[in-house]
Amino acid sequence: MRYHIWTIGCQMNVADSQRVAAGLERLGYTPAGRVAEADVVVLNTCVVRQQPEDKAVGRLNQLRAFKRRHPDRILALMGCMVGVKDTSALQARFPWVDLFLPPSDPTGLWAMLAERELLDEAQTLIADAQARRLALSRTDTVLPPSEEGAAVSAYVPIVLGCSHACTYCIIPYRRGPERSRPLEAIVAEAAQLASQGVKEITLLGQIVDRYGYDLPEFAGASEMPLVALLRRVHEIEGLERLRFLTSHPNWMKTPLLHAVADLPKVCEHIEAPIQAGDDDVLARMRRGYTVADYRQLVARIREIIPGVSIATDVIVGFPGETAAQFQHTYELLEDLQLDKAHIARYSSRPQTIATRRFEDDVPEEEKERRRRALDDLQSRIVGALNARYAGQTVEILVEGRKKHRWFGRTRTDRLVFFEAGGDWLGRLARIKITWAGPWSLVGEPEAAATCGEDVSDE
Ligand code: SF4
Repeated sequence: MRYHIWTIGCQMNVADSQRVAAGLERLGYTPAGRVAEADVVVLNTCVVRQQPEDKAVGRLNQLRAFKRRHPDRILALMGCMVGVKDTSALQARFPWVDLFLPPSDPTGLWAMLAERELLDEAQTLIADAQARRLALSRTDTVLPPSEEGAAVSAYVPIVLGCSHACTYCIIPYRRGPERSRPLEAIVAEAAQLASQGVKEITLLGQIVDRYGYDLPEFAGASEMPLVALLRRVHEIEGLERLRFLTSHPNWMKTPLLHAVADLPKVCEHIEAPIQAGDDDVLARMRRGYTVADYRQLVARIREIIPGVSIATDVIVGFPGETAAQFQHTYELLEDLQLDKAHIARYSSRPQTIATRRFEDDVPEEEKERRRRALDDLQSRIVGALNARYAGQTVEILVEGRKKHRWFGRTRTDRLVFFEAGGDWLGRLARIKITWAGPWSLVGEPEAAATCGEDVSDE
């Protein structure tokens, strides 16, 4: 029995797919590289912009013929395209799909497998999910990872959904309101991952800093819940690195910044989206802060966390964004010299406030021109920042190998490649940088420093 999972979208979707794969492997399924070889096919989708939604629809249409040829095989659609509400419109549009699974909730798949294949273990997975639901009185269907297939790095969702409702964003409508997982469940999952060999954990949430404010266990607590969680996960033996994302500028409280600075395993890398560099645009996006607030936050992050890297997200071509307002964003990025910026063109999404209230009036070619202008600027900025690494030695966690080169990331989330014999996977390696570009660094290992006698030549 084999399975194939196709995933598009954010880290939360990657984490959801990892959990579906883990559950399927517990049921005895093995991965299939191609759809044609799979008994269970899961499409895990994203609708945050039109482009990933179009890709998912294209994929679904391709799979119509597959289902016609193999009616006995299972095709499940999962993620934000399904959402947490009524799926009747999707069922009518894609009648060849067997199952519609909400984000982070594969229970329906376990139920179908239990019924069709009479798999006792599938009943265990359902009982597990239900027990968690009952015990926690909230929608927590995240399953533990499988015993095999541990990776070096893993994502652990800690807050599901979002209640912020930025005007452009479809996520609250598709992933539901914000709900945190209990601290002990997260710590147990992190410990299990560490026992399987995982060295780095990234805690995930749409607004990760909002973790725990909805949990009774933190009512009246003096410490920020995410800080309490970081301290607990930090104690887990075997874990080398800890990250969290994505932050919202309003919730990046000073104690959290001090925790990043003080806890050695927590990497000095912050992801805090600005989205626009103009106050009028920010107000219409309902982000809840001004450009001055964001500038102060960047200054505070840099003051409290030495050597920190900061990543941001920007949307260009939001309804009504004038050339002058775009220029404000350009100048802000030029001024702040951030380490990474993900630039996206505005994409009107159904249900959102922006789609209902504003006209999508910036032409697509102008959106693309603005996106390119920011991309070019940012690649110049990052190219200059990275050039300072040339000749320096950095520590990376080796995550894998592409063709003949090993790769890993620095604590500040810079991608580093190197060539070496032996098995470096999962090791902390010290690499002397010999070449620096805007998107990656290349270097050579300081041989004896970390791999020592365990490293044998190939
Ligand atoms: S904070 Fe805003 S952009 Fe982020 S998920 Fe919530 S609504 Fe969407």
